[in-house]
Amino acid sequence: MAIKEDLNGLVRLQEIDSRLQEIEDKREDLNQAIQNVREPLTALEAGKDAVAKRLETLQRDTRALEGSIAEYTERIQKSSEKLPLITTQKEYFALQKEIETMDREKERLEETLLTNMGTLEELQEEAADLTKRCTEEEKNFLTKKAEMERDAAAFRTETEELQQQRKTIAAGIDARYLAHYDKVLLYKGSPAVVQIVDGNCRGCHMTLPPQLFNDVRRGDSVITCSFCNRILYVES
Ligand SMILES: [Zn+2]
Repeated sequence: MAIKEDLNGLVRLQEIDSRLQEIEDKREDLNQAIQNVREPLTALEAGKDAVAKRLETLQRDTRALEGSIAEYTERIQKSSEKLPLITTQKEYFALQKEIETMDREKERLEETLLTNMGTLEELQEEAADLTKRCTEEEKNFLTKKAEMERDAAAFRTETEELQQQRKTIAAGIDARYLAHYDKVLLYKGSPAVVQIVDGNCRGCHMTLPPQLFNDVRRGDSVITCSFCNRILYVES
């Protein structure tokens, strides 16, 4: 009777350990997924920052251009006012040429300003679009993250419950069998307790001697596989 209880305990222990391993794997995947889930938002934010920096530079350049254009306007104005006061033709032509040069330069700056204004408008639209997409993606990210954190919390709770159950079950199993179980788990990995199916060990798939099968069935002692050392049981 005691052997049967030990064996039942070991089977149950194996079930718990398998589930604990399964949860552990899922938790690792989940942690990875939690790290990855922010990636689209991070990429969008980086794009938004880059556009904001370009905007800032362009706005600064535009202000400088506007300043230069105003300066030229003023200089052209002053030179034009001076023109009627000039008495010699040579000086008159020289100043006129100077005004023409300033006019051309001013025109060139105005063209650049116009191009900048166009680019500025495009960038502002792009920035607005990215801000909108960031907001949407952030909402999406937070929803997914909350779901994942709920899953993670559920896994934590289940792990704690299983570990508690494991402790109770392990306390009821003969220490020698428990030590054997732990040893097999350590060297062979899960499962340490396996069923005999069609005369074969489910752990190593070797065909067991009929005598061994009968011994397991009788249940007088805990029997291990002669090939892989795993603890054997039959469905009763
Ligand atoms: Zn085996």
